[in-house]
Amino acid sequence: MPLQKSLGLHRQIADLLTDDDTIFIFYTCYPTAFQTKPTSMDHIVIIGNGISGITAARSIRKRSDHKITVISGETDHFFSRTALMYIYMGHMTYEHTKPYEDFFWAKNRIELKRAWVSGIDFDKKQLQFDEGEPPMTYDKLVLALGSKSNKFGWPGQDLKGVQGMYSYQNLEYIEEYTTDISRGVIVGGGLIGIELAEMLHSRGIPTTFLVRESSFWNVVLPAEESAMINREIENNHVDLRLSTELKEIVSDENGRVKAVITGDGETIECQFVGLTAGVSPNVAFVKDTALETNRGILVDEALATNIPDVYAVGDCAEFRLPNGQRRPIEQVWYTGRMMGETVARTLTGERTAYRPGIWFNSAKFFDIEYQTYGWVWAKDRENEQSFYWEEPQLGNRSLRIVYDKDSKKVLGCNAFGLRMRHEVWDKWIGEGTQLQTVVQDLEKAHFDPEFFKRYEQDIQLQYNTEFPSAQITPRKKSLLEKIF
Ligand SMILES: Cc1cc2nc3c(=O)[nH]c(=O)nc-3n(C[C@H](O)[C@H](O)[C@H](O)COP(=O)(O)OP(=O)(O)OC[C@H]3O[C@@H](n4cnc5c(N)ncnc54)[C@H](O)[C@@H]3O)c2cc1C
Repeated sequence: MPLQKSLGLHRQIADLLTDDDTIFIFYTCYPTAFQTKPTSMDHIVIIGNGISGITAARSIRKRSDHKITVISGETDHFFSRTALMYIYMGHMTYEHTKPYEDFFWAKNRIELKRAWVSGIDFDKKQLQFDEGEPPMTYDKLVLALGSKSNKFGWPGQDLKGVQGMYSYQNLEYIEEYTTDISRGVIVGGGLIGIELAEMLHSRGIPTTFLVRESSFWNVVLPAEESAMINREIENNHVDLRLSTELKEIVSDENGRVKAVITGDGETIECQFVGLTAGVSPNVAFVKDTALETNRGILVDEALATNIPDVYAVGDCAEFRLPNGQRRPIEQVWYTGRMMGETVARTLTGERTAYRPGIWFNSAKFFDIEYQTYGWVWAKDRENEQSFYWEEPQLGNRSLRIVYDKDSKKVLGCNAFGLRMRHEVWDKWIGEGTQLQTVVQDLEKAHFDPEFFKRYEQDIQLQYNTEFPSAQITPRKKSLLEKIF
């Protein structure tokens, strides 16, 4: 796996294995010695074995002796969803994406059940399953149902060879339907769309990428960063079609896709279509029940739903009240993990509000790694300004620092092709550090491995030309940097 890409993924897996997991792994067979709160035994059932459900289960076990059952219809064991693409690309096997050995669950008395839950009787506290399995009762229920790929009613969206990219089953399907094809078309220019483009590209499959917006992901990325990713997509020989919508997917005589028709009326022949126009909370089977839902399952700050003893976490949860500037639904890995930890506290007797701190996210666009901290909007807001640096020759690295126009306090940062230290940006943004200090101390946030080209000096020199009244002393290059 390429180094840049593997870093983000390994960070996600490493994040799961914190120091106290050492205790967890080796000592939880002696529960009483390590429990913080001995309580009476409840049966806590968690639907969903993704990052949020599994973190809830692990955290509950660390803190209590409750009976825990985790149910999922997707796979027997927890795996890293963010690593699905690497299985397709041949960098990893499915086994490699499982952060825990299979024996871990029994050893820690977390029961796993592979089944689809088809209904919930909230009065009887009972779950129903597909395929005539007996119902299961619970004392407390955690819904960690994740997301599903969006479909917008396009003609032909259910044809053979047309698929979203979310689940392990989606991956198997994509594997089957992208063998020996002459073109794939991807619909929807977000984080998953570009991953799918890279996947097809890795197998040498000519790929057309339909993006409705005038530039890649420009609802999130500022114009310069978005343009950089357009270039990166094209440099990888993907046929990027901006401002282009899908109108229809056309079938062959066997019900398999043979072409798409765009909004401009162009027909593009293809044998596979990837639908990656966003995801939404996977809440269909709890809609029209007593559980209150909007786009997701509505929860309060402690992740409690309107029904006593029922909680929701991760991608499927929607906060009733906004948490500062954060969105009511957060569909990223680390927020799922934090929600899992938070609900575990409440379920073990310590009602705790979800307080996720400063926003961050990371991704990779082909070979360009992306990190964002704090608030960086597609367009600076009224009180904001940006300092933006871009590597001039290749145009594949950049740093944007957003700050408050009046106070010059730093509000957020976008780093492309540069690795930054999370804890440093967290501190700078949290403490409202001045732009001048941040640029002066940029080296503290530097996280690229040894011998990677350093850019602090270039950034600082540009800063000095843009801010002549607030000069800083640029970092001196080391002898090795000067030589190479
Ligand atoms: C291809 C891809 C790449 C991504 N890359 C990144 C990334 O780089 N960084 C990042 O932060 N985020 C990324 N994400 C998003 C991240 O993976 C999700 O936010 C996170 O996995 C959601 O976790 P979750 O536990 O809430 O739900 P999920 O992981 O979706 O788990 C929910 C589980 O519940 C099961 N389930 C649902 N309903 C039922 C039912 N009725 N009965 C039984 N089981 C049920 C589902 O089958 C699923 O297994 C990516 C997502 C995808 C799809």
